[in-house]
Amino acid sequence: SMNIKKITTGSRNLDELLGGGIETKTITELFGEFGSGKTQICHQLSVNVQLPEDKGGLEGKAVYIDTEGTFRWERIEQMARGVGLDPDEVMKNIYWIRAINSHHQIAIVDKLFTMVKNDNIKLVVVDSVTSHFRAEFPGRENLAMRQQLLNRHLHQLMRLADIFNVAVVITNQVMARPDVFYGDPTQAVGGHVLGHAPGVRVYLKKSRGNKRIARVVDAPHLPEGETVFAITEWGIRD
Ligand code: ATP
Ligand code: MG
Repeated sequence: SMNIKKITTGSRNLDELLGGGIETKTITELFGEFGSGKTQICHQLSVNVQLPEDKGGLEGKAVYIDTEGTFRWERIEQMARGVGLDPDEVMKNIYWIRAINSHHQIAIVDKLFTMVKNDNIKLVVVDSVTSHFRAEFPGRENLAMRQQLLNRHLHQLMRLADIFNVAVVITNQVMARPDVFYGDPTQAVGGHVLGHAPGVRVYLKKSRGNKRIARVVDAPHLPEGETVFAITEWGIRD
């Protein structure tokens, strides 16, 4: 639809799979097992959103909601150098917010409506969207409550994306072993958290060495198939 813009991931392969990059006005869910590259892609997008439009960016700022304490400024510096931007400038344009529990995470997103309205923010990352909810509402007996809170949270993020034309990227760790998913559909491989909500779901999988495999699932507007990208010292590449 109108005004939708795209942010490059740093990998041409991955951009092509996504129809040109990560879209604004949309939630993109990155899901996959530990080490599959979710956090690395989130770091890269926080840098790349700052690039000029002819280089695949939106000349905008990023908000990085970090629920697991895995955000690293050193990694941002490396990636900034990797795209030829001044690391100090790049770091200034990323608002890193540590969310200490699910209640805090929800409150942060509520506050973002004012923040995004008054600033040139073009990307909002929630890495990961599920970890606090899973820790606080464990087991099958809490599944309905957790899903209800998570759905409301996702709905807020969707509104944020839509109203302010920003890209929202969420991550969700899923277990590689289906025998240990305990009947929780959001933890099974293929069991992404977006459910049938609008958005793009990208499944990430480890491959040889620094190679990773990405697959877009349930996206009628995108071609089917997989692609390979790499996590390098300088960031996400082919
Ligand atoms: P989790 O579910 O545990 O959060 P994740 O999907 O977020 O996992 P990432 O943290 O994105 O996984 O990926 C970690 C991988 O990224 C490491 O195993 C390593 O291969 C690669 N990596 C991290 N930092 C660098 C770096 N500076 N240079 C090269 N590769 C790196
Ligand atoms: Mg991670």
